[in-house]
Amino acid sequence: MGAKFAPSYANLYMGWWEETHISADMRKSLRLYTRYIDDLLCVWKGDEMSFITFVQKLNQNELNLKFTSEYRSKTIEFLDVKLMVVDKEIQTTIFRKSCSGNTLLHATSCHPKNLVDGIPVGQFLRLRRNCSTNMKFQEQAEEMKERFLDRGYGRKIVDRAYQRARQTERRSLLSVNPMGEKKKKVKQGLLKKVPFVTRYSKQFYMVLDIVKKYIPILYADDDFHKILKGGVNSIPRRSHTLRDHLSPSMYRETNRGDQRNKGFLKVEGSHKCGSRRCITCQHMKISKEFKSTVTNTSFKIRDYINCNTSTVVYLITCLKCQKQYVGCTSRTLKRIREHLSQIKNPKTVEKSNITRHFSKCNGSDVAYFSVQGIEKVRLGSRGGNLAGLLAKRELFWIFYLHTRLQLGLNYEFDVTCFT
Ligand SMILES: [Zn+2]
Ligand SMILES: [Zn+2]
Repeated sequence: MGAKFAPSYANLYMGWWEETHISADMRKSLRLYTRYIDDLLCVWKGDEMSFITFVQKLNQNELNLKFTSEYRSKTIEFLDVKLMVVDKEIQTTIFRKSCSGNTLLHATSCHPKNLVDGIPVGQFLRLRRNCSTNMKFQEQAEEMKERFLDRGYGRKIVDRAYQRARQTERRSLLSVNPMGEKKKKVKQGLLKKVPFVTRYSKQFYMVLDIVKKYIPILYADDDFHKILKGGVNSIPRRSHTLRDHLSPSMYRETNRGDQRNKGFLKVEGSHKCGSRRCITCQHMKISKEFKSTVTNTSFKIRDYINCNTSTVVYLITCLKCQKQYVGCTSRTLKRIREHLSQIKNPKTVEKSNITRHFSKCNGSDVAYFSVQGIEKVRLGSRGGNLAGLLAKRELFWIFYLHTRLQLGLNYEFDVTCFT
């Protein structure tokens, strides 16, 4: 149930399903049929076999719905409630899985005070509502008190919440919305106040003090006075959590379209760095696009790249025979000078295929050596393996620009980055 609409959607679907797929025949044996989203609780009149057949029938569907069932004659658990038959009567108590730990919000958690203090109230009222006898309530309440104390709640707050639940009539908690009227009035009262919404932090109450202290200044203005005389209704928004930082929602980013040019610089293309001593500059082809000399297809360079750009895929073109080579570096494009010095040095020229080509094709004349940065490789905000991604992008361009042997100068390439 990840998305907000998921429970509503599941409810609608199951509502449709139960109306159209449970036959009148089945209904005869169903003494009770209730559902919470996709959890069913049924009281079945009949023997074991007939119930098993019933579930089998439910499972024979083309809707890809699968039902699992559990049936017992004396006790059964449903959601957080345990139902028991005692003296021909159904009694209820709280059901907690034996493996469930203490998941109550910690008292020192960074939440508004009234929210934290409200949790014991809500929890004890839940016990009161779900336990059919006073004894069961008492039993469960004792356990719950311990859990609250373990989580750093003050004994006073816990006791007060317990007493409040104990003194509340259970019947009133079972009606649909016992506090409806009261809530409505409170809401109407609040509506007259101007909402002051701010993100919750440890300084939240200090901020409120400042607002309270200085709001009378605004009363000097007639219009403001009219609007603000009821005071402000401060509403804390949820503060950032570790979860937000560790797994941020990608939604906003993908919605804003291309995020490549994150800096202020909106210029795209391959450029010189302009340093007088830079050797790469001498061979850098200033360009906004690059072209496969095999397929004649042009591609836009969608990043700003110069000799100082690192983690970049580059394209070398031999200006004499037009053959091309795709390479990548996790260092800056200045490393191109290593290719150049290898070409110029007879001792090293045979070391790699690309340098060997320049010696054979044009007698090691680096004037035929032209380079373009074609893609600056970046990780998305989820992070990952940059070296791996760089290798993948290099491989992508080797294949896309047809720079493999015969047509191009990439004699070797490594596909292990995809394993
Ligand atoms: Zn340069
Ligand atoms: Zn060549």
